[in-house]
Amino acid sequence: MRQQNLLMPTLREVPSDAEAVSHRLMLRAGLIRPLAAGVYTYLPLGRRALRKAEAIVREEMDRIGAQEVLLPAMQPAELWRESGRYGVYGPELVRLRDRHDREFALGPTHEEVVTALVRDEISSYRKLPLTVYQIQTKFRDERRPRYGLLRGREFLMKDAYSFDTDWEGLDATYRVMYEAYHRIFTRCGLNYRAVEADAGAIGGEGETHEFMALAEIGEDTVVACSGCDYAANLEKAEAAVSQQAQAGADEGAAPPLERWHTPDIRTIAQLTELLGPEASRLMKTLLYVADGKPVAVMVRGADEVNEVKVQRYLGAEQLELADAETVQTVTGAPVGFAGPVGLSVPLLVDREAAALSEGIAGANERDYHYRHVRPGRDFALAHTGDFREVRLGDRCVRCGEPLTLYRGIEVGHVFKLGTKYSTALGARVAGVSGTEKDVIMGCYGIGVSRLLSAVLEQHHDEQGIVWPLSLAPYHAHILPVSITDNAQRELAEELYNRLQSLGVEALLDDREERPGVKFKDADLIGLPVRLVVGKRAGERVVEYKERQAPEAESLAVEEAIRRVL
Ligand code: ATP
Ligand code: MG
Ligand code: MG
Ligand code: MG
Repeated sequence: MRQQNLLMPTLREVPSDAEAVSHRLMLRAGLIRPLAAGVYTYLPLGRRALRKAEAIVREEMDRIGAQEVLLPAMQPAELWRESGRYGVYGPELVRLRDRHDREFALGPTHEEVVTALVRDEISSYRKLPLTVYQIQTKFRDERRPRYGLLRGREFLMKDAYSFDTDWEGLDATYRVMYEAYHRIFTRCGLNYRAVEADAGAIGGEGETHEFMALAEIGEDTVVACSGCDYAANLEKAEAAVSQQAQAGADEGAAPPLERWHTPDIRTIAQLTELLGPEASRLMKTLLYVADGKPVAVMVRGADEVNEVKVQRYLGAEQLELADAETVQTVTGAPVGFAGPVGLSVPLLVDREAAALSEGIAGANERDYHYRHVRPGRDFALAHTGDFREVRLGDRCVRCGEPLTLYRGIEVGHVFKLGTKYSTALGARVAGVSGTEKDVIMGCYGIGVSRLLSAVLEQHHDEQGIVWPLSLAPYHAHILPVSITDNAQRELAEELYNRLQSLGVEALLDDREERPGVKFKDADLIGLPVRLVVGKRAGERVVEYKERQAPEAESLAVEEAIRRVL
């Protein structure tokens, strides 16, 4: 492609309303343009990158024998009533009426449509297992569309649906899909974790995993163990901790929660004295979550009145001593805890403590604590306004090693649905014995457009995007310093033609622009290799530079071509 004619409107200025790095980069590098909140146009570079992501997804789906279909975005409300979701899906579902006043929904997901298809087309177990997929635009009227492609209202998703005759079959299909997801995200150069997730809204009976790209901007929290491969999203980890605590609590008779007058206890030292050496072990993490995002972690009480050590989220090693006011600043809103702090210990109890008879928690009230605290029973789901107190044991439920928290972007989700939709819509097949059984389903999503944003969150530097080769809109950027110089222009054209004939996707900057502008644009759009044709064009020497390399190298044209390949 010749840049002179390319629709690639780069911006020098950082658009002020774009908070996420990936969003800013996509706007600045001319990949996307907004049309409405959460609705974007893909410009040529953005479209090409999206196609690369689609191609990777498509290859891996085809490789495991999933069959590509294209299901309608416009779906009769009747179908959604059959599954029971029309009412419960809520305002996220985009609803519309046709000229005959018939109701429709624009598909946010396609369980209904695909289950109806299988119900109508498949009647024998011999046709199963079956997995179909599509890569298609989805519509969700998100409450807070934001961060560019990370949370759109119209976005590209790959969704796959599997149909098996029994749970063993689903288990096998799920495993194969799970592995395909690993290949997809690895090929995209993503730093990610597959985490155990909670069944939650989709409402299934079985196992589910989310694939989380690790990034500060992520709206999810990933809890990962340093000792084993346990990783879960926050909700699931929380549930596991409560469950374990509950199991502990059920073993003995649990005394009820008691408000405890503690006028004389002012410091951790006093508390330690009271409880013995166990005390410091009992002081656990209190994670404050605002709007689904962790904002601060109180680690433990300090020895001073009205002071706590605040561990800023992800500042894992650094403990800071802070007063209640700072806590308020860090969390961005008043929290109950930051009121009369009394003994500044937000929480002194956790699942380990549940094994001891005396669990103690701060009562957010001067001179009072709670005792006989059972997490799971007394505190697991405490809500205070917009804030949710999430208590986590800082130890893995599986191996007891320390847990680490990350922020993550959900780029993929695999889910054992079971028979929820097949039962509702009557998708049954005759088994070997002739008796009919509801088919067992799984569903598997990847946010293809979100994936691009997630990749850019991880792959950039001060100058701009650093595309992984697999997703780069073009592989090589040929940059004649002066296009009006004959030797430079000719050598650049030669390079351009030869690389293309060798299968390298090349972009030629044939604009009559100042070199500074060209170099800045090149760094901003971040193609993997840059070939600068300058003063030494007459000697057939060019400058070769990989996007991340600190320096360019002067190479003979032939050598430069070899290096690109
Ligand atoms: P989230 O928790 O971020 O709202 P979700 O759990 O509602 O996502 P799923 O129903 O699991 O999403 O859809 C499958 C995939 O589609 C998600 O894993 C995500 O990658 C992508 N996705 C979901 N909502 C959006 C959106 N609004 N914009 C872009 N991608 C999205
Ligand atoms: Mg959602
Ligand atoms: Mg989710
Ligand atoms: Mg999900």
